[in-house]
Amino acid sequence: MSELIKTSAIVLSKINFGDTSKIVHFFTEDYGKMSAILKGARLPKSKTGTVLDVFNYVQLILYKKETRNIQLISQVDLIKHFHRINEDLEKTKYASAVIELLHNLTVENEPYQKLFKGSVRILDLLNSDSGNPKLLFVKYLIFFIKEIGYEISMDVCHLCHKKLTGEETVSFSLEKGFLCSSCRKESITFFDFSKELFNFFICLNSKINNVRYEDDDLNKIVFFLERYLMYHLHEFKGLRSLKSY
Ligand SMILES: [Zn+2]
Repeated sequence: MSELIKTSAIVLSKINFGDTSKIVHFFTEDYGKMSAILKGARLPKSKTGTVLDVFNYVQLILYKKETRNIQLISQVDLIKHFHRINEDLEKTKYASAVIELLHNLTVENEPYQKLFKGSVRILDLLNSDSGNPKLLFVKYLIFFIKEIGYEISMDVCHLCHKKLTGEETVSFSLEKGFLCSSCRKESITFFDFSKELFNFFICLNSKINNVRYEDDDLNKIVFFLERYLMYHLHEFKGLRSLKSY
């Protein structure tokens, strides 16, 4: 038995299927990542047109069956098309990286409602003119890592448990986590945070918005977070979107 469900979703990718259909990957609000087919989507009389374009925020009605890998779309309506993302290479690059994270690093059929809301929000922010796309993306990446269960704790040194106040150079060990300036000397670490960079990282993790930073600080944090994810998720080989634009 299949049940008729209604949920909102972000379009992650689409491919043509058979002569007239399309198979679409969605990140849905209530059911997480799933694939669904829209039969007749490519027939001339189909009204879907560009509704299923990647990045779109849509409302879905579909027949869902637990035992099926690909669900059947009954109706799809556009909630929002983020038209300005496609007009700007920098925005496209970071929006693509958001889609890539959702596509590759979330578990099929597992709901992530907070991550869904945050993902719609970053697409909305990238679509508007508010803020540097790279900064918006780095904040999203930290949030994403937390929501998939790999939050980076930065309160204390993971060896001696001393509080890290942002007044010293610290290092990050992939096995242990953040280490204070004394403990780092006795461990194999992979990434050093200057006092300034560590304070910037603390700010990125907080709700503070008017942070001062250099572009290179953002590059360093992206590098650090990508390597951190690669260490924990072996199937992850880095974000292709960041290299291909
Ligand atoms: Zn320590």
